[in-house]
Amino acid sequence: MNDNDVKRTIRGIALLNASEHNGKTRNDAVISKVIGSKPELREKIKEIIPLISEIVNEVNAIPLPTQKSELESNFPELLVVKPKQDRSGLPALEGAEQGKVVTRFPPEPNGYPHIGHAKAAIIDEEYAKMYGGKLIFRFDDTNPENERLEYYAAIKVGLDWLGVKYNHIKNTSDDIEMIYKKAEEFIQAGHAYVCTCNKETISKNRREMVACKCSMGDTAQNIKRWKNMFEKFKPREAIVRFRGDMRSENTVMRDPTLLRIIDEPHPIHKNKYRVWPNYDFAVAIEDSIDGVTHAFRTKEYELRNELYYAILDKLKMRKPKVLEFSRLEFDGMPVSKRILKPLVQDGKVSGYDDPRLPTLEAMRRRGIVPEAIRKFVLSLSFTKSDTLAPFETLESFNRKIIDPTSMRLFIATNPVKLTVKNNNMTQIEIPNHPQKDMGKRKIQLDGTFYISGDDAKSLKAGDEVRLLELYNVKITKSGPQIEAEITDTNFKPEIPKIQWVPAQNAVKIEVLIPKILFVNDQFNENSLEIQQALTEPYYLELNVGTEIQFVRYGYCRKDSANQVIYTHK
Ligand code: ATP
Ligand code: MG
Repeated sequence: MNDNDVKRTIRGIALLNASEHNGKTRNDAVISKVIGSKPELREKIKEIIPLISEIVNEVNAIPLPTQKSELESNFPELLVVKPKQDRSGLPALEGAEQGKVVTRFPPEPNGYPHIGHAKAAIIDEEYAKMYGGKLIFRFDDTNPENERLEYYAAIKVGLDWLGVKYNHIKNTSDDIEMIYKKAEEFIQAGHAYVCTCNKETISKNRREMVACKCSMGDTAQNIKRWKNMFEKFKPREAIVRFRGDMRSENTVMRDPTLLRIIDEPHPIHKNKYRVWPNYDFAVAIEDSIDGVTHAFRTKEYELRNELYYAILDKLKMRKPKVLEFSRLEFDGMPVSKRILKPLVQDGKVSGYDDPRLPTLEAMRRRGIVPEAIRKFVLSLSFTKSDTLAPFETLESFNRKIIDPTSMRLFIATNPVKLTVKNNNMTQIEIPNHPQKDMGKRKIQLDGTFYISGDDAKSLKAGDEVRLLELYNVKITKSGPQIEAEITDTNFKPEIPKIQWVPAQNAVKIEVLIPKILFVNDQFNENSLEIQQALTEPYYLELNVGTEIQFVRYGYCRKDSANQVIYTHK
């Protein structure tokens, strides 16, 4: 860069910065922006600083409207609004246009939301944000056998907790009559037929790649049977099947089911409807009419893409782009309902919010914060191979976020009594956080304390230790009742430092420590450790939900007056 180029660069940046700050710019702001946009100038910074200073003064001397007009006429390139910088780390979306991307998060309300749902919802939302588009939150509720109102609510609560913002919320079941119209159109056009064969025959024909006799029926027969599905037929006596290709290599295409009869009452529509579209039919139609441009799903659906596109082609409906990502699961912490449901039913875990589970409710109780989940999800490489992430990765994101706001408190696990014979203090005030101003707490003292069993074990008569924030003591008697004497209050780096709890008013709590739930696919009977502990009386003044860092122990979230859940180290 020659000198004129350097000057021009500086002047442009100074003008832009001034025009964005009421006509005044500053040396430091311009220096960092100049180096940011032309890193090669870093080496010449010494020579440039006086130049910047000079230009900043010139620019600050001209009125704001003049700054703006100079900027417009001489530096138009600086005024081009760049598409929002993508901080998410997600790769660009194929065929995405700024302002026109529509994604959707389509859970079936058949269970509690878990970390896998968080991944899907966060990616859907991040892409919508990245392109200034929209996110639709749609309950895919067309299987009344498995769905309950409780689950709609739990999923919505989970999404709100995660801070996922959507532009529109809807239920697929509310569109059922439109879906019936599409089905009838399909049957009329000969793209689908009603099959009354039994399940075994259907499976056998599929395996042997032969068409079943129902597929030869004419339109009149199919329409008549279709009408009968709403009244006469019993469940499993008739299904609507897509006219695919019984010889297709892709088994999904061998005349798959599109609609079936389910007589269970629907959580919202009760007994109003009995013919329900299955996943493939409902999702394709809904995505298309909802204006979805990019539809994400987990990769086990990949073989169903052919059917998805075929349905929309034959209905002459607009086709979204279907994209896949991998399923997310923690190592030893499965998300599948098939595995979790029996654990809850058999009482092996206390419920869907048991802190050992990967549900959002469990993670919230445990003290994992939504921002940590988002950072974690976005940190996973965007691949199709299944992600078995270690829980520790999420923990490390969480620790960084909660550390600055977690109050410090003392705890004694497996407590042992320690009496300081010559205690001379009746009260002490301790800051709640070592760096941040989070207030202080007063602790009453009478020379009797509890310390952790682990610390007690290693103390022998003659040892000197520091009772944190208090004084140094020499142990005069070890064992189940420790006795000690104050030596001095000087800070001595070489002696051990231990935390303590005042024996008078100590609060009894239990610490639930969640451990890995499955080891080699076997339920870990020792997955929940419960430790008895004593803590300071100040604990009782904290709200349920407060995150505490117990000094020399770990982060815990207050779950009730007498219980905390161990978050992580
Ligand atoms: P489940 O086996 O729990 O029923 P699902 O895929 O049927 O899983 P839905 O409630 O239908 O669950 O899923 C809603 C969205 O969340 C879908 O886009 C689905 O692909 C995605 N999703 C579900 N589980 C995971 C997971 N473990 N990892 C990533 N995405 C997931
Ligand atoms: Mg499901």
